[in-house]
Amino acid sequence: MIDFHCHLDLYPDPDREAQHAQDSSVALLSVTTTPSAFLGTKALAKGRPMIRTALGLHPELAEERRHELALFDKLLPETSYVGEIGLDGSSRHAQSRTTQLEVFDHILRSCANAGGRVLSIHSRGAVPQVLDSLRDVPGAGTPVLHWFTGTTRQAEAALQQGCWFSIGSPMLRSAKGQELLAMLPRERVLTETDGPFVALPHGPSRPVDVQDTIRLLALRWGVTEVEATARLHANLRHLHISPPAG
Ligand code: MN
Repeated sequence: MIDFHCHLDLYPDPDREAQHAQDSSVALLSVTTTPSAFLGTKALAKGRPMIRTALGLHPELAEERRHELALFDKLLPETSYVGEIGLDGSSRHAQSRTTQLEVFDHILRSCANAGGRVLSIHSRGAVPQVLDSLRDVPGAGTPVLHWFTGTTRQAEAALQQGCWFSIGSPMLRSAKGQELLAMLPRERVLTETDGPFVALPHGPSRPVDVQDTIRLLALRWGVTEVEATARLHANLRHLHISPPAG
């Protein structure tokens, strides 16, 4: 199983959640929302080789945490993964748009200077702007658009720019999501929970819940769960060796 976007540090008991993911053999990308959360979150991966920790600065926190960009740059050599980063175009965050762009561009340039990273990117209501920023900074890394909610046309543009997609179970249940899935090359797809932020019938989503996403994905792809899992793991291996896009 692969959960390529999970906020381990935001569970009520992060250490227990991390151990549960490790015991359940979930290959997990543990994303952070602020640079100051990185080291504490990285500690959760110690002795748990299935967990990788990403350095992030969430667009919704851009205004309040832009002063942590210096810390971001300082910590960047410690990881191959960056996220959660990106832009949020929803009206709630309209007033921080300029700062969001400054922060995102700064991060992309730092990643390019560092030789590229795997990037877990938030793009709600801002897919064209995210793609513009990525185009402006060649070599920032391999973008993985997390929880994509854009249009099929935007997905097409993203694919042409070398983007990958990490998808959650709601996408596989909606008609629009299924239409999107049908156009994504299977070799550019990973699975995610975005836990604990996604509410499932039993409570906040957990890394193991990605199994349900894989079940649905297999159904949509018309393959067995074993085949879908093998595809996803091959994708994950390839992600690490693919050259930075751009
Ligand atoms: Mn998230």
